[in-house]
Parts: sequence; structure tokens; C-alpha cells
Amino acid sequence: MNRIFLCALFLLLSRLSWAQPFHLPTANQALFVKGAEDKFFAPTTGKTWTSGTYGCVRSGGWQMHEGIDIKCVQRDRHDEPADPVLATDDGIVAYLSDKPALSNYGRYIVLQHNVGRLEIYSLYAHLAELQSGLKAGQAVQTGEKIAVMGRTSNTRERISKDRAHVHFELNLFYNEHFSAWFKKHYPTEHDDHGIWNGQNLVGIDARLVLLAEHEEGARFNLLNWIQHRPELCRVLVRKTNFPWVKRYSMLVKNDSNLPKNKIAGYEIALDFNGLPFELVPRAAAQIKGSARYQLLSVNEAEYAKNPCRRLVTRQGSHWQLGNNGLNLLDLLTY
Ligand SMILES: [Zn+2]
Repeated sequence: MNRIFLCALFLLLSRLSWAQPFHLPTANQALFVKGAEDKFFAPTTGKTWTSGTYGCVRSGGWQMHEGIDIKCVQRDRHDEPADPVLATDDGIVAYLSDKPALSNYGRYIVLQHNVGRLEIYSLYAHLAELQSGLKAGQAVQTGEKIAVMGRTSNTRERISKDRAHVHFELNLFYNEHFSAWFKKHYPTEHDDHGIWNGQNLVGIDARLVLLAEHEEGARFNLLNWIQHRPELCRVLVRKTNFPWVKRYSMLVKNDSNLPKNKIAGYEIALDFNGLPFELVPRAAAQIKGSARYQLLSVNEAEYAKNPCRRLVTRQGSHWQLGNNGLNLLDLLTY
């Protein structure tokens, strides 16, 4: 009898841990203590803790911060950050950058995870050192030490000791053809990190995901959470076989009346950060005009709240795709 009970308990616990994929990447757990946000988020100089959260939280609301900055809780004798940085979920090392001068992320790591069928990437930046022996392609487990927190970055202004933090992101991945796209769009610039350039990863709000997981427990469903992002705008693209459609096929609405060979484009819902969270296949007859990308609608209330990515712009009463919006659609469908 006891044995059956233990088996049932084990099954239940393993189910719970499956349903809550992401764990905090350091020992700082203050995120889950109401009113303790200032102990968790590292603000920018002279600002409140909200400047360390995800979103349009920098430069007066006009600069995007794609990750969350988690405060240091352990120091060495030189007062340097010493927190072990831990894998947020079981996964595979996708990329390691051990050359801090090549990125404003400084020294950073990208891990790949599969949550249900969703391909998710976690990113850990400003690291002091990588766990020795860690290699791309290697499997890591939830909570495994992958690095030590640091203050590395290639920005002119250094991260001060009192602001020491890990910059942590949860992302989806735009396009494996990123390097070719980058070369075409920025012919004079050097792409130091290949497809692991931050531009090729689209961040979701790690704070909201971690809090929702914490509150909802086994009921939390990441795919469902992504499918219910507030919509900034809806666009139409005249492309059919771009990588996102395959990689994130669960975000594509099935239309049984429209056979695959009749699909001429997709209507795409984007959140304010450019996450394509819903794709609706369209037949040629449903597509008006000849433009490669068309802006179908803008949610003005969402734009008023989160304008900083400048994906759309307004000329008088007329909305259009901004350069950033066009760039993003180009990368997405390249
Ligand atoms: Zn940051």
C-alpha cells in the first residue's frame, strides 16, 4: 500500500515540476515575496526597481529592456558579485560567449529548452566566469551551476559594484537564416555571435512568466500564456514557408478549409516587442494589394502603454509600419 502511495506521490511531483519549467536562476527568491521587489530587481542608476524589469522601462519609457536584472545576494571579499548562476530549466547549451568585449551582454550563455513542444531560449548576461568545461551542445539540468554572476559588458559606462546583477531573458527564436539576413542588411557590420545575436531572439516577460507559474502551479501553461499576449498590431505577409511557421507551428491557426498548397500568406498578430503569437493562413483571394507587408490594424491602447519598440508609427490619423516593424518582418520571413 505504502509503495503505491509513494509511486502516486512521485508521479504527481514529477508532473508538477514538468508543469513549472522555469526556476529562478540565482539564490535571490525575493520575486515571490510581495512588496520585496526592490530586493529582487537591480535598478539603473538613480531609478526605482521598475527600471530592472522587462519592457519599455528605460530612457523615459522609450527604450526596451528585454530581460530582468536580478540583484546580487552573495559577495566575495572584494565586494564583487559571487552568486552562482543556475540553469532555469533542463536544456542544452546553445551558445557561450567568453569574449565580454564583443557584446553589451558581456560574457553570456544561451540555453535551449523544450517546454511542451515550445522551443524556448534562456539567456544569462554580464557573467564573471563560465562554469569550467561547459560546452555548446552539452545537456544541463534545472538548478545546475553554469556560471558566476559578474559585471561584464562592452558599454562605455561600466556596471558598478552596487548594481551587480544577472541579466536574465526568456526568448523565442526568430530565424536560423539570421546571419545571411544580417549580412544583407548591415553589410559593413560584423556579426560576432552568428544566430545568437540578441536581435534574433525575441524576449517574453520573464517576471510575468515566473510569477504566473508560481501562482498557478500545475495549471500554468506556457503556450496558452504566449497565445494570450496583448496584441499591438496585426500584419499581413505574402510569404508562406518561413522558419517560424515550422518552428512554432502550434501558434499557427489551423484552417481545414484552406489546403496547404493554397496558402498565399499569413495574417500575424504581434505583441509590442514583436513576438508573432498568432498566425492565420490566408488564401490569395483574401489578400488585397501587392505590398509584401501590410499593416491591418493597430491596438492604440497597447501602443500608448508600450510604444518603445516603434514597430508602428502614426502620421496624423494614419498608422503605418515603422522601420523597426519592417526590419522585424524581413528577419522573420527571410
Ligand atoms: Zn538588463
